Parts: sequence; structure tokens; C-alpha cells
Amino acid sequence: MLVTRFAPSPTGHLHLGHVWSAWQAWRRARDEGGRFLLRIEDIDAGRCRPEYEAAILDDLAWLGLEWERPVLRQSDHLDRYGAALATIREQGLAYPCFCTRADIRREIEAAGAAPHGPPDDLPGNQQDPMGGLRYPGTCRGLSAAERQARIGRGDAHAWRLDAAAAAARFGALTWRDEEAGAVAADPAPSGDVVLARKDVPTSYHLAVTVDDARQGVTLVVRGADLFAATHVHRLLQAILGLPAPLYCHHPLLLDAEGKRFAKRDRSLTLRALREEGLSPAEVIALAENWRSR
Ligand code: GLU
Repeated sequence: MLVTRFAPSPTGHLHLGHVWSAWQAWRRARDEGGRFLLRIEDIDAGRCRPEYEAAILDDLAWLGLEWERPVLRQSDHLDRYGAALATIREQGLAYPCFCTRADIRREIEAAGAAPHGPPDDLPGNQQDPMGGLRYPGTCRGLSAAERQARIGRGDAHAWRLDAAAAAARFGALTWRDEEAGAVAADPAPSGDVVLARKDVPTSYHLAVTVDDARQGVTLVVRGADLFAATHVHRLLQAILGLPAPLYCHHPLLLDAEGKRFAKRDRSLTLRALREEGLSPAEVIALAENWRSR
């Protein structure tokens, strides 16, 4: 049976791009006699707000979407992600990383790139495909004794995937995208992604992979900005022995200047459109027209 989901992070109000993702996922499930799930991705306690979560549920209900209860809220399941991290560690495919963001930038500079601006200014090969800094692997080379000593004395640390070792262990992997077809997984450009942050015992990559499998999601509908992340998720699925769903990465809705919508752009939030008096059908038509411009 087809199982789709919409997985917003309650860090702001939904905008037209989210409307498109949610509506597509819901419509596919409805048309094909499947199930539609809603998942609140709220692991980032510093940025997520209960009032945004409430607004998201209210907006989706207003749009006419129906989802199964209970809604999975990731912050309620941190133990699950901890267990998945343990599985990866047991296979020797994760390592503790003690670096700060400043350490990472310094390391990249020392390697000769000398970036001085924000991450956006980094040359392509220093950046991961999701727009962050690609980790230069500093802590991968620490000895077991040093790792233990630093953890023992309470040094703050994240856990990172040893992406090259994992890719070598699992060999050629593919995943399927409805638009792109069969895709050869290439997690290398993302580098050694964080599996568990210093402040949160998981990361987006780990939690989304665990939950899509746990909830039996068979089709992941999301924006093309997460296409690169799927390469990483496919590798994590292999390590954790989880099935790979089908993906549909839809093109991003762009604003009048050709820039993608961001949660900070208030004008095209569902809230603002509702306040302007648009009906649900008009909002969906707007998203559809936007997409075909
Ligand atoms: N929580 C993510 C976001 O709000 C989406 C994750 C996903 O669809 O895989 O951008």
C-alpha cells in the first residue's frame, strides 16, 4: 500500500512550497487508496516552537488535508535515534567529532582555500550539497585512546558518519526517484555528515531515515533541495538494514526573483494568504500555477 508523509520542521510558518509538498503527498495517498502521515521534525529545540507546530496543523487542516493520528513528533523518540546510532557505531562506521564550527573553518582555511565570508562564499569543493561546510575529516584520524580520553574528560562531541568507509563496505547502491529514475547513490559530496549533534542526540539525516522506515513510508515527496540528502539517506538505509522508499523530489517553487521561498518570506506563507481571504482551492491553484510558470 502507498504510504506518503509530510514532515515539516516547526521553525516557521508554512509557505507555498510546503503547501505543494504536503498537497502532493496527500493527494497521491488519497487517489491511490493509500495512507498519508504527518511527522513533526522538531529535533532542533533551539529553533522549533510549539506555536509554529500548532499553526502548521491548523493550516494543513484548513487546506483540507487529513492525516492519521497520532502524529509522530521526533522529539518524543530520541531513544530510537540513539539505538540507530549505536548500530552504526557497532559497525565501526561512526566517530566522535570534537570540532567547533570555527575549528572546521580554520581547518579548511589551512588546507589552502582561505574562505573569509559566510559558508555561501566557499568554493564548491568545500561546501556540502546542502549548503553547509563539508567536514574536512579532522577527527576521523584520532586514535581510539585519544577519543576515549576526550570523551572521558567530558569534551563536547558530535558523532559523524565515516562516509568513505561506509560506502566502501556497502558498495554500489541505487535509489529511485519518480522524475530522475534510477539514481546511483553518491554520498561522497556530503562528506562525513553529523549523525548526532553535540546538543541533540540525533541529526536530520539519521532521524528522517529511521522514521521513514519505521512508519513504513513507501513514497517520500519533498523538494529538490533535499535530492543530495537522499544519497546520504540511501547509505544510512544500507547500514541500518532498512528498506529504501521511492522518492519524488519536486522542483522548488521560486519567488518573483527566481529565489526559493524561505520561511522568513512572510508574503507567501499560508497564514498571509489566508488572511488575504484566499480559499483553500485558490491557495492550491496558486501553488500549481507557480510551479508551471
Ligand atoms: N523537515 C524537513 C524540512 O522541514 C523536511 C524533511 C523531509 O521531507 O525529508 O525541511
